[in-house]
Amino acid sequence: MVKSMPLKVFNTLNQRIEVFKPLRDNAVGIYVCGPTVYDYSHVGHARTYIAFDIIVRHLRYKGFEVKYVVNITNIDDKIINRAKELKKDPLKLAEKFEEAFFDDIRALRIKQADVYPKVTDHIPEIIEMIQTLIEKGFAYVVNGDVYFSVKKVTDYGKLSHQSLEEVKAGARSDSSEKKVFPVDFALWKSSKPEEPGWDSPWGKGRPGWHIECSVMSMKYLGPQFDIHGGAQDLIFPHHENEILQSEAASGKKPFVKYWLHTGFLNVGGKKMSKSLGNIIPIGELLEKYSAEEFRLFVLSAHYRSPINFTYESLNQARKNLEKLYNLIHKINALVKEQKKEKTDIEEDRFYKELEDQKQKFLEAMDEDFNTPLALKHLFAIMRKANTYFGGMVEVSKELLNRVLGLFSELGGILGILERVREAPEELPEELAKLIGEREEARKSKDWETADRIRLHLRELGIILEDAPEGVRWRRKHRGN
Ligand code: AMP
Ligand code: ZN
Repeated sequence: MVKSMPLKVFNTLNQRIEVFKPLRDNAVGIYVCGPTVYDYSHVGHARTYIAFDIIVRHLRYKGFEVKYVVNITNIDDKIINRAKELKKDPLKLAEKFEEAFFDDIRALRIKQADVYPKVTDHIPEIIEMIQTLIEKGFAYVVNGDVYFSVKKVTDYGKLSHQSLEEVKAGARSDSSEKKVFPVDFALWKSSKPEEPGWDSPWGKGRPGWHIECSVMSMKYLGPQFDIHGGAQDLIFPHHENEILQSEAASGKKPFVKYWLHTGFLNVGGKKMSKSLGNIIPIGELLEKYSAEEFRLFVLSAHYRSPINFTYESLNQARKNLEKLYNLIHKINALVKEQKKEKTDIEEDRFYKELEDQKQKFLEAMDEDFNTPLALKHLFAIMRKANTYFGGMVEVSKELLNRVLGLFSELGGILGILERVREAPEELPEELAKLIGEREEARKSKDWETADRIRLHLRELGIILEDAPEGVRWRRKHRGN
């Protein structure tokens, strides 16, 4: 029943919603441009990774066999420049931030991709593809650099929907580059003696920005695959150039069937930037909010729309999640109390209503992963269950368990409500006592003691949040 509904996705290539049909039966290959590891990942990255996590979860829920690949860019100009600034070895610096990226992914409850290929592990394959491009006449060598010649292709601009003339008019020339036409782009860059470099037929150097993604996506998913993603900033030039290289090298079109792009996350209405000082690293976010709260916030906007990070929106997400868990905890408590085992006709009728709402949830997800609409249906289920269980004297364990199962199933698609089967955790007595002592200290305005206790609890892995209704606690997340 679930699998018969067609999934539709917005394809940047054709600028319209299309029915999703994989190239090979039921198998889906998906490649998403991952992080350039020169710094900690921020909440904008988190938005894109969560969006694709949900896309992959939904595809798997629908029964597709998904192979999910996310690359790690561990060598490029940004890494080299940052390493120079910090007087560190670029590859070591990249290793440190790669580890931090995996910590963040785990902390955000993002399911691991099947492969996380790294650029530095694929240098021979990159050299091989560049050689193929030279042999086929699509690329040329100038003093140790290799460039792709965009004039050699006839369908330039098909992803970003602009002509070569338009792009040429806006192209800035960089004196360090030796290309013959301003829109041509580097496949291989010669490296300075103090920079990391690999031997190649053109001398010591390193790959250009785009070639890695052509090489690694095709290596793990084949010359033609189903979905390629990233945020909208990558449509041009990165993904445009990936298409040119890949199709020129393999001779097969199209390189990718569906191109999916996420909208940007802004902070307080502004693009995150170093100069504005408004970059929020994921670790900092998770000091204040749980992964599920942030995920609920991300889900409140469609993945293609921009989303504005504000603490009001995060607090709203916190309240909404709390409402869901309040109901879930209540149901868990009811399961323990109730004697009645099996559902009756009346209960079956009620559960059917929830299932209708579940279908609407799934239809919303099938409509280009419309999470704001799917959430409306999830909250409708919550309201119905609240009303029903609120007035109940007797209710069967079977119904209660079914409703818990429903929350677990739909929450599993969105990567929330992981704690459906858990009763609210009780704090060990000594820790509860410490919180009490801190409250006392706060009441008598002894801020020093209050802060000392807060820090002590933090060391023990407990984070305190002072909310209007009183102090709340939660366990520290990995990566905090
Ligand atoms: P980067 O490490 O900057 O190459 O980015 C890794 C991934 O995150 C890419 O898919 C980017 O398009 C995406 N990304 C970067 N910044 C943002 C942002 N502010 N909002 C959403 N996605 C972003
Ligand atoms: Zn890429």
